Amino acid sequence: MKKRLSTPGPTTVPESVLLKMAEPIIHHRSAEYGELFAQINQGLKYLFQTENEVLTFTSSGTGAMEAAVVNLLSPGDKVLVVRGGKFGERWAEICTAYGVQVEPLDVEWGHAVDPQQIAAKLEAVPEIRTVFTTHSETSTGVINDIEAIGQIVREHSVLLVVDGITSIGTHRFLPDQWHIDVAVTGSQKGLMLSPGLAFASVSQKAWEMVKSSNLPKYYWSFSAAKKFLTKNQNPYTPAVSLLVGLKKSLEMIQEEGLENIWARHQRHAQATRAAVRALGLEVFAKNPSNILTIVRVPEGIDGKLLLKTIRTKYGITMAGGQAALAGKVVRISHMGYIDDFDILTAIAALERGLKDLEWQLELGSGVTAAQQVLGE
Ligand SMILES: *Cc1c(COP(=O)(O)O)cnc(C)c1O
Repeated sequence: MKKRLSTPGPTTVPESVLLKMAEPIIHHRSAEYGELFAQINQGLKYLFQTENEVLTFTSSGTGAMEAAVVNLLSPGDKVLVVRGGKFGERWAEICTAYGVQVEPLDVEWGHAVDPQQIAAKLEAVPEIRTVFTTHSETSTGVINDIEAIGQIVREHSVLLVVDGITSIGTHRFLPDQWHIDVAVTGSQKGLMLSPGLAFASVSQKAWEMVKSSNLPKYYWSFSAAKKFLTKNQNPYTPAVSLLVGLKKSLEMIQEEGLENIWARHQRHAQATRAAVRALGLEVFAKNPSNILTIVRVPEGIDGKLLLKTIRTKYGITMAGGQAALAGKVVRISHMGYIDDFDILTAIAALERGLKDLEWQLELGSGVTAAQQVLGE
């Protein structure tokens, strides 16, 4: 059976990237590696749309999140964390693990945060010096208005840290214009790479905070990464094969152009949402991200069985809901290395899975709606 991934990480890795990662290992202290890493660092600046340094870590995306916390803060610091889904909650969990005081701003799942609520919190609790938030909240399918949040954070002279793990390289994301101090991403999402690399961009203002931060850190030290970056090196042995693949995926991104990639994700999201609605189903998010569509499973259908049916009968892995959404939604990713026909295939599989579970629908009605959007 032909297997396909429709999950919001890991995403499909292009053949040309896979082949690069199969090449013999080069030594990480060689001139050859230095050249490779220099090119990667240029590509990362383009990907992040920033003039700031972008640091690379060998870990999944959460490693860069933890790095952001331990490099900026000190024990007892008070921070504002927007909790509108699993990944917003993760910021709070990391901060709490390090003895940082979290002032949560809870947002109903499926809704975007209202930037005015952030302003109100900052005014009510003036000790808050840092705001942690999520751009594309993969657990709820919501996109938050980081540009508006950046404006508020600037007016209050506090730092802004953004989880851009599923938005960098898929959604318009302009950290320098939007006053983002630290932005993080990982390799297995929009970058079309295997899991195992994480990245953080760091602003001048954030580097000032790094100087005074005294939370414990060693492997995650921003200062160590920066020191080695000036020599196009990493402090410790990097994941060389992943980096060789990264150079290729960054080249593909530069070739297509970020503006085109953002537009492609938007078009695919519109087609998928149209298909879901044509099937009489509901899109969960009120302000949906372009990287995935979260579909409410209709009444009477077992969401876990639906996913299993689609995976085992048709070879397509989609993601289920997290936490309170377990069994209640299907998360269809359209992030990364995706074309029109991947969209049509995923929708066709959703239709077949629903039909197998005896939900009444006309096969092809979702595909038709998607075709109408894609063929425009
Ligand atoms: C995938 C993801 C992460 C990081 O998860 P890892 O498994 O550590 O790579 C963080 N935030 C968001 C929004 C994500 O989608």
